[in-house]
Amino acid sequence: MKIRSAVLRESGVTAPFASSLPLHIEEVELAPPGPGEVLVKMIAAGLCHSDLSVITGVRPRPLPMSLGHEASAQVMQVGAGVDNVRVGQTVALVFVPSCGHCSPCMEGRPALCEPGGNANARGELLTGHHRLSLAGSHINHHCGVSAFSDHAVVSARSCVPISEDIDPVEAAVFGCAVLTGVGAVVNTGQVRPGASALVVGLGGVGLSALLGALASGANPVVAVDVQQSKLDLARELGASLVVNAKDPDAVEKIREF
Ligand SMILES: [Zn+2]
Ligand SMILES: [Zn+2]
Repeated sequence: MKIRSAVLRESGVTAPFASSLPLHIEEVELAPPGPGEVLVKMIAAGLCHSDLSVITGVRPRPLPMSLGHEASAQVMQVGAGVDNVRVGQTVALVFVPSCGHCSPCMEGRPALCEPGGNANARGELLTGHHRLSLAGSHINHHCGVSAFSDHAVVSARSCVPISEDIDPVEAAVFGCAVLTGVGAVVNTGQVRPGASALVVGLGGVGLSALLGALASGANPVVAVDVQQSKLDLARELGASLVVNAKDPDAVEKIREF
């Protein structure tokens, strides 16, 4: 089928990107899902710094590549052998597909899946296939998702079913920001109840880390940013103290708290 997708053909072009326009909306060919794969229709996608890192070339990836890696979508068709999602279901698309069998997966760390990471570096789906092309030439998948498209074929192992009572637009951030921010607190930091936590920077990842710290029972939880609107939101979400990093007394205020 023909789809529209935001394709990057050259990285490292001159900023500002509003002038150099590194992404092009192209009509490209999307092959049907093979075994273990799923055709989805995008509902919402987030723009993440990792997309920017591919555009700038800081994170080299095979080009051309259809970008976007944090999204919610509706399942339209499933390939042979897919049993974790069904047609019509809403799913979050995660930025690392997990095979379920390698050592990180077996240790309960699916975000570090080795075959998943290798497939992402090659611009392939976890199944080893490319399903995007133009005039017979492959277009690479970004993190197995390529969310800046109206439709995508992804590995079923990139899909996490989302409960119907969650707004699918909000569910899009589960695919990267939430699992990065909450994962940093719960898995890497192993924050325990009663521990103090400090979150610096309240973007999607930082606000997710804040929620992860609160859910872990951390107290106090201090939130730092330079934007008052972010600080207000952090306070609303339950931060014990919010501090504007522009405040010359910021460090003292946190130490004294
Ligand atoms: Zn991301
Ligand atoms: Zn794995």
